[in-house]
Amino acid sequence: MNLNTQAGIKAIQLEKLQAGIEELQSSNLFYKSRLHEVNSWNDFYDLPFLTKAELVEDQQRTQPFGTNLTYPLGDYVRLHQTSGSSGGRPLRWLDTGKSWLWWTGLWANHIYKGAGITSEDRIFFAFSFGPFVGFWSAYAGAERLGAMVIPGGSMGSEQRVLAIKELEPTVLCSTPTYALRLAEVGAQMGIDLSKSSIKKTLHAGEPGASIPSTKRAIETAFGASVYDHTGMTELGPTGFTCSAGDGVHFIESEFIFEVIPIGADPDPRSTQSEGTGELVVTNLGRFCSPLIRYRTGDLVELSRNPCSCGSLFVKAVGGIQGRVDDMFTVRGINLYPTQVEEVLMRYSEIVNFQIRHEKIRHMDEVSLLLETRDGTDKVVEKVVLDLRHSFGVRIDCKCVPSGTLPRNEMKAKRVVHVQS
Ligand SMILES: [Zn+2]
Repeated sequence: MNLNTQAGIKAIQLEKLQAGIEELQSSNLFYKSRLHEVNSWNDFYDLPFLTKAELVEDQQRTQPFGTNLTYPLGDYVRLHQTSGSSGGRPLRWLDTGKSWLWWTGLWANHIYKGAGITSEDRIFFAFSFGPFVGFWSAYAGAERLGAMVIPGGSMGSEQRVLAIKELEPTVLCSTPTYALRLAEVGAQMGIDLSKSSIKKTLHAGEPGASIPSTKRAIETAFGASVYDHTGMTELGPTGFTCSAGDGVHFIESEFIFEVIPIGADPDPRSTQSEGTGELVVTNLGRFCSPLIRYRTGDLVELSRNPCSCGSLFVKAVGGIQGRVDDMFTVRGINLYPTQVEEVLMRYSEIVNFQIRHEKIRHMDEVSLLLETRDGTDKVVEKVVLDLRHSFGVRIDCKCVPSGTLPRNEMKAKRVVHVQS
């Protein structure tokens, strides 16, 4: 494998794709009518896009697992499902022993490696180990790396803080929001996690670890270096933060990444390999239930500028910048929750927030609910000014009592669309 040139990477991608398509063509009912032979990149660009709605529909029609199965059911060893956080029905996704090894190999060889995490580390997983793949794959990848794994499932936040204090892990794996929650609970217990054994924190599930102000807040709370990771249940682990720390490299030896413009009805023949838009991904190591040209709904800016870490893999600058569907409009200005989060998390007084989006007489009205550390609204005026300065529009902010907004170890729900 020659991963030292762009041409080498492209050759590997095509080779893996061809082998995978050959493997699934005779047995995978889902792809039977969607695929044709792929002998060149032109053939690939002729293939249609795939959407999550199509997958959901397939699983509803053929329950419980749908038809995107290349092998007999007996060959599959793991079932996970999506959190359903985007409002849709959860998707169920199966892995074989071989594809699970692919997952864990990507964790060991790319994601942990990118963060400089080694077999000497002790990793604490603040995660419930439910049906969501979340950190299951991270856990199995850490075992493969030879690190010591510490499961923090079925523990409350206080127990987790105590576990960190007593077991002295060097790495924390959690969502970014939950890391901040743990630090807050620690402070309430009189335990300062910035003085704990944690040297690195590794995050997924939300864009936070690539949002500069959120990243800084976690760095300060734990006195640690903060790393992001991207992935999706139905796709696999797609990216990792390198030493440059300004985005996420996508693992191009195991996936094909493309971008399409937002808003238009995109033409499968005119995708880009860099630039800003919706991310489209093909996985190349999971042909038991593959996704070919899958529209992720994630907003990214892909850059092929050389990175100081030396990796040739494309970089999503600033990580995943949001969900395409989460965009909202305030007096003609289009905004994503991540942009709002970047402003709010500059304030150490703010511990949690929610964006309320309401349509009143066909007009978009947006307001922010803030939870503050001391329960007062002293910071509100400054925040409103700051938001106005950043986006050129006034966005009303209101403080709510501590504990009003939902907070758990899974993805934070940042935007609430209110019907009126
Ligand atoms: Zn890099």
